[in-house]
Amino acid sequence: MLKKILFFLLIALIGNANAQYWQQQVDYRIDVKLDDKTHRLYGEIAFDYLNNSPSTLDSMYIHVWPNAYKNGKSALAEQLEGEGKKLSTIDTAKLGGISALDFKINGSAVSWSFHPDHEDIVLIKLAQPLAPGKQLTLTTPFIVKIPSGSISRLGHIGQSYQITQWYPKPAVFDHKGWHPIPYLNQGEFYSEYGSFDVSITVPKNYVVGATGELQNPTEVAFMDSIATDTKNRITEIIALPSGNLRDSFPSSAADWKTLRYIQDKVHDFAWFADKRYKVLKGSVKLPESGRNLTTWALFTPANALNWQNAIEYINDGTYYYSKWNGDYPYSAVTAVDGTISAGGGMEYPMITVIGNASSARELEVVIVHEVGHNWFYGILGSNERQHGWMDEGMNTANEMRYVATKYPDNQDLSDMVLGGKLHLNDLDHHDMGDIFYRFLAVLDADQPIETHSADFSSANYGAIMYQKTGLIFQYLRSYLGDELYDQCMHRYYDLYQFKHPYPEDMQRVVEGVSGRKLDWLFGDLIQTTNIIDYKIKKAQRVEPLNTFTVKVKNKGSVAGPIGVSSLDKAGVILETQWTNPTDKRSTLIFKGNPAINEFAIDPNGNIPELNRSNNRILVNKALFKKLEPRKLEFMFGDHEANKTNVFWTPMMAFNHSDRTMLGVAVHNFGLPFKPVQYFIAPMFSFGRKTLGGVAEISKTCFPANGVRSIKTGISIKSFGIDDDPNGQRQSFYFAATPYLKINLVSDTRPKGYANDLTFKWLFRRDIFSNDMSMENGLKVNHTIQSNKKNFSYQGQLQFEGVLGFHDEIFEFENYARVSVTQEFKVKYLDRKKTRNIKFRLYGAYNLAYNPGSSYYNVMGRYSISMFGSAGYQDVFAENYFFNRATVSGAQYTDDMGGFRTGSNNLRMSNYWASTVNATVQLPIQPNMFVAFADFGVYDNGVGVAALYNAGLGINLGDIVGVYFPLVQSVNMGDLYQNYKTSIRLTLRFNPFNLPYKLSTLLK
Ligand SMILES: [Zn+2]
Repeated sequence: MLKKILFFLLIALIGNANAQYWQQQVDYRIDVKLDDKTHRLYGEIAFDYLNNSPSTLDSMYIHVWPNAYKNGKSALAEQLEGEGKKLSTIDTAKLGGISALDFKINGSAVSWSFHPDHEDIVLIKLAQPLAPGKQLTLTTPFIVKIPSGSISRLGHIGQSYQITQWYPKPAVFDHKGWHPIPYLNQGEFYSEYGSFDVSITVPKNYVVGATGELQNPTEVAFMDSIATDTKNRITEIIALPSGNLRDSFPSSAADWKTLRYIQDKVHDFAWFADKRYKVLKGSVKLPESGRNLTTWALFTPANALNWQNAIEYINDGTYYYSKWNGDYPYSAVTAVDGTISAGGGMEYPMITVIGNASSARELEVVIVHEVGHNWFYGILGSNERQHGWMDEGMNTANEMRYVATKYPDNQDLSDMVLGGKLHLNDLDHHDMGDIFYRFLAVLDADQPIETHSADFSSANYGAIMYQKTGLIFQYLRSYLGDELYDQCMHRYYDLYQFKHPYPEDMQRVVEGVSGRKLDWLFGDLIQTTNIIDYKIKKAQRVEPLNTFTVKVKNKGSVAGPIGVSSLDKAGVILETQWTNPTDKRSTLIFKGNPAINEFAIDPNGNIPELNRSNNRILVNKALFKKLEPRKLEFMFGDHEANKTNVFWTPMMAFNHSDRTMLGVAVHNFGLPFKPVQYFIAPMFSFGRKTLGGVAEISKTCFPANGVRSIKTGISIKSFGIDDDPNGQRQSFYFAATPYLKINLVSDTRPKGYANDLTFKWLFRRDIFSNDMSMENGLKVNHTIQSNKKNFSYQGQLQFEGVLGFHDEIFEFENYARVSVTQEFKVKYLDRKKTRNIKFRLYGAYNLAYNPGSSYYNVMGRYSISMFGSAGYQDVFAENYFFNRATVSGAQYTDDMGGFRTGSNNLRMSNYWASTVNATVQLPIQPNMFVAFADFGVYDNGVGVAALYNAGLGINLGDIVGVYFPLVQSVNMGDLYQNYKTSIRLTLRFNPFNLPYKLSTLLK
């Protein structure tokens, strides 16, 4: 009863919140003519702008987005440059723009200017402010130079035209103010609702698809005739061989035709024109109203094979989205084959453009997704730039549901990777998102769903904004049940169709209809990167009552509900119960049933949990057991539900002392990564005739408050260290380094920031034929990093200390050091090539230094090297060396002083040193040649000395560096006397850094 009262109360609140609502109205009349010889549009636009807001407007923002394509300075150009596409260097014929603008309001010229930062936004000062309830009419001619279709969404490839975001259009003014936004590739739109009356003039033989209802009976007959012809000849069209007959553009007719499209209650107008288009026409009956509407597919002959059943995809998409959200309100749905868009697809009201698809199934999913945007973008017109999940994410939730409904047994993801040959078992369409999200979350590379579109990394834009939103709304649906979930979505659709809903509106409606508080979803899961992990603790039979009690615990940082099911031997769900979202621990009571074989949290994987290995408990007569069968697989695969997957990989290594090493790695680096990771690789050393190798195990956890993540682990290494080529090769080291890495970066920081605090402990034994040394140490490192488009910075403050002991001579040694490293990287452009200049500043001071009388002293193991650490100075065993028994090999790590020179001029300090290293990437191809210069001062024990050198080198990423010094200071000796030893090699390779490297790539 209480629940019911609450329910009605909330419904009343929804109504109330809605009563204040207002939005602006824009009614357009556009005449446009396509010149397909010069690829230009000549147009006249007039729109009536009705101010429904309570504010008086004294200015207006107008988007003139073709100017995004004008030069290398637009926001679009800047964003594309980050993706490696440069507008500044592109052939100007391929650029675009809008010109001939002459704005008049109510017939009088106005003063207007471009936005100071964005030439694709115009600011108009109104001579007479526009009072609430008043209307103005704005007019202007315009000429659009259509850019190359390879740049972004507006464009042409040859005479195939994709005319989108093409006309002057007011920015949205809503209760949060004006929303002037520059056009972007990553980051979508926000537009005012209104009506369109658009007349398009093109040569007569063009086939056109557009927003709106076509008004010309002769053109309707023209489209119908192509549709009949396409239907009759589809096999013949599919069989056409590639070449002129199929692919080239027929010449344009000398006669023109003017097509008129009219539409109300839409917020944009796009059109597509291609003389080669084939057409299929269909119709679909809507589930609620029973109304029939027309569906169109326009495609080029080259893509006819995949497109032959496109009408089915459009119809089914339209039907299911209508069923789950509300009936489609317009009279037609069109999908066009946009041979010019770079993969994927793009949505506009009533019409969507689809890029090349590799299979019919892929095409179907893209068509359904883009058609689905008619609901989540077209009809529910949210601010996509700011709250992209409200369209892309909600749409992905429907797309996932569509594939699961129509193809319940699909294995889309398994089939996709190497034709299903890898051990990716039974992974379906939904798992694409599930694995992608969990992969990034475990690497700590995810961002909150509620992030501005432009602040997402490109991986997170897809994995978080689209996929994670899809996953969490599937979670909500499994919690509420389909019926109640659908009621929520229908109510949201009814209340906000043709309006501008915000996240708070959606939350209010869904909470109101469901009668549940959903902070765990709209707060934790959307606003933060908090993670989900639920655990089943115990299941107990209560004999006298014939029931089971099942205890579950919320181990994650999201206060969400847990769904627990009882299952029979075949895995069929018998009963499901949900906990109260806010309870940390819950006890659920299930009906007794002899068929119960196990209890499981979320057996269908609807909850995007990071750790699913604690989700099941088996009922084994009186005994309850948690256990999963193990499965050993070669190389790599996915982590399957109900199984513990273990992978094995053959290993081979080589170094100076061990010679060849052969072994096997056993690990759990499957997809997605698990919070607990292990990699154990024992290898047989043919040089030492014994075992060595590496092992590492780590666990990452994600606390609810304070820090972003904490990774604890231990790394173990053991390799030979004997430098004597004829010796017994019995010497080796064994190093165990437990570590703790705390990620302090805050959730709201945009991409490109890092803030890590790392503690590393060292327990190392070096065993020689007649001696043994022990070294225990600690390294504390704080790193901050900020990556901007043209500039990046990394700062590092480090303390390290080691206490050593030599058994034979019974002597202690030690050192303690503080150091600071700062790196600045600036991008520069030379002859159209982007290259970096990097400055590195390093300073170190030994707080304590006592090398004893052993050869540690002689070899400078604890000294500050001006050159970086050679094998012998890698005390913490952090890198791999061909020869770690030496300070005079060619291989160095680019740490400490970092001088790029080989070993014959070894320089070290026992006190302090400071260096500057400059590296310039040369503007030649390929991008691997650098010029470098190093300068440093240090205390060499006698006094302060200065060194410099400069030369040329080759850099392969961060991994390999080969350097050839050409000049050096006199006090470094004669460079050319034995030049071979002056060449320096840097190798920074660590397989355990691979996940970390991946995550930085993805950031
Ligand atoms: Zn989309």
